[in-house]
Amino acid sequence: MTPSSSAVNPHVTIVPPRFDRPEVEIRASTRRKKTGAAHWSGSRIVVQIPARVRGRERVAFVDELVERLLSQRPQLSAGDAALEERAHVLAELYLEGVRAASVRWVSNQQSRWASCSPSTREIRVSSRLRQCPEWVIDAVLVHELAHLIEADHSSAFYLLADRHPRQGDSALFLEGYALGLGLRIETGDVDAAG
Ligand SMILES: [Zn+2]
Repeated sequence: MTPSSSAVNPHVTIVPPRFDRPEVEIRASTRRKKTGAAHWSGSRIVVQIPARVRGRERVAFVDELVERLLSQRPQLSAGDAALEERAHVLAELYLEGVRAASVRWVSNQQSRWASCSPSTREIRVSSRLRQCPEWVIDAVLVHELAHLIEADHSSAFYLLADRHPRQGDSALFLEGYALGLGLRIETGDVDAAG
């Protein structure tokens, strides 16, 4: 009897990034019988699935695992490193990989959800957003990242920011969230060069 009687190396397939999700690496393993799993590996999502799942069933199986991972809310406990990593992923997806010098949570922003300093390329996100769904934080991050390219709220800016498909939903969500918290949110989120 040899250990090779069961497949040791899972079969790997790479699915290129799409508009709404990053690159996905599918690892089909004969060791998995029914359940799958997904995790982040840098800016790629790695999905492990049973090798017996094929064809359209496989596509649906993978989609569900990816969607579940994308909808999780790690930001509740996540620190600045995770926030910055998320910003990198979003920048790759929507904004040709534009890079901020730093992306961090701040607790001293009472009247803004987030802000950007184009001169220093720093992005700050209010820790109040930790309570929000991840897609809201994603939309806010894409908005701030777009300011690294277009500082003003110009039509060119909105063409970039609106590449995130839920930018409008996010604005509505945050309007309601501000009402619920009794906050008065300023529209200005870009700090002038100092
Ligand atoms: Zn803005």
